[in-house]
Amino acid sequence: MIIDDKIIYDLLENSKNKTKLDIQKVIEKAKTMVGLSPQDIAILLQVDDQQQMEEIYKIAGDIKSSIYGKRIVMFAPLYVSNYCVNNCIYCGYKRDNIFQRRKLTQEEIQKEVQVLEKMGHKRLALELGEDPINTPLEYTIECLKTIYETQDNQNGSIRRINVNIAATSVENYKKLKKAQIGTYILFQETYHRETYEVMHPKSLKGDYEYHLNAFDRAMEAGIDDVGAGVLFGLYDPKFEVLALMIHNQHLEDKYGVGFHTISLPRLKPAEGVSFEDYKHIISDSDFKKIIAIIRIAVPYTGMILSTRESKEMRKEALLYGISQLSAGSSTGVGGYQKIEKDEEQVKQFETSDERSPLEVMKSLLKDGYIPSYCTACYRKGRTGDRFMALAKAGTIQYVCTPNALMTLKEYALDYGDKEFISLADKMISSEIENIDRDDIKKLTIKNLKELEAGKRDLYL
Ligand code: SAM
Repeated sequence: MIIDDKIIYDLLENSKNKTKLDIQKVIEKAKTMVGLSPQDIAILLQVDDQQQMEEIYKIAGDIKSSIYGKRIVMFAPLYVSNYCVNNCIYCGYKRDNIFQRRKLTQEEIQKEVQVLEKMGHKRLALELGEDPINTPLEYTIECLKTIYETQDNQNGSIRRINVNIAATSVENYKKLKKAQIGTYILFQETYHRETYEVMHPKSLKGDYEYHLNAFDRAMEAGIDDVGAGVLFGLYDPKFEVLALMIHNQHLEDKYGVGFHTISLPRLKPAEGVSFEDYKHIISDSDFKKIIAIIRIAVPYTGMILSTRESKEMRKEALLYGISQLSAGSSTGVGGYQKIEKDEEQVKQFETSDERSPLEVMKSLLKDGYIPSYCTACYRKGRTGDRFMALAKAGTIQYVCTPNALMTLKEYALDYGDKEFISLADKMISSEIENIDRDDIKKLTIKNLKELEAGKRDLYL
């Protein structure tokens, strides 16, 4: 059994009433960037002393900048179908919500992708509801092919597609692997069995064990990049964080590699979803605390924050650990082409940060970050334990920063306005100076020149 409720409750109980000194020991360990055990995590989750909390935020920020530097990876979700046989009570696409369901044709997907490419996107997360009749796995495979083959007239192309579809069989995961998916993403929603059953009544998704074991099946099928998440707001967040970390440890022990990314969605209003029914909605301050603790617990795992959160929250969360942001997102089917008018569209949930990718990336540059559309690791086969080995050795920085700078240059040339180009060029010049290996520095400068001359898609 991967998740044993009793073990988690015991961890939480035993971590209460720890002395300041006990907590300080964990804080000192956190500084060494080796990650934390479930016991340590439980102790940090109980901290409410202001001074110690400040220290935790500081360590999380230090870990974030020493491992990820200034890079922030950018992406957008693409919803292709809202047919769904499930009845997840928190979701706008639940079966009981009666509205005209839609799945995009391959031609509509092409158009949707062209809109995304015109915004400059290179990385997508493909999203669809579960419906074996209307959208069998073959539909997803077709969508992947269409997206990869759709090229905007100018320079647009989607270079990586992460896939967020329902838990499935080893056979199907093998097919997804063959179709060249990036990360396979699946949120557990809640690790608490009883709550899971209440939230997912009478449905395919209602089988807790099948859902929980999905990453094991994906790994058995050869997918070594998996992305996890919890929908915060369904159950006690402390329980969820510990369970998430135990799930990660299970994959590390069994397959040598844990989650590639962790997403941090918080419950948002949606059609037929009222906040009053949820007792575990988390406050902004608890949410920030969770982000910082996860960053410390798994220093090398990417952390994703979507446009569910406001621009203010996203800005702050970048300080404590978030390394990937979506931008310009639509959570409706056909939402980018506005096939239906906004007011008529049923969305899976509401979004908060409505800025365009250009605006988001400008503000990132102003705050000293390097927005990155890099897709090199997966295209060079640096996935799973190979990626982790490089990341842990620190050598990854010699490819990540140059690649981020190259994609930034490319974006500036193809999609930037005057202000963006000036911000990007300033960032690129100062960052090149910081590359301490001469060969890498020279190669980066050469590639940047080639981009200016019209070449595209250069990476190390
Ligand atoms: N097949 C998946 C599904 O339909 O659940 C994939 C698509 S969905 C975008 C991905 C996630 O959105 C879900 O796993 C869930 O955690 C999240 N979600 C659903 N309803 C939500 C809500 N009301 N607020 C915030 N996130 C929500």
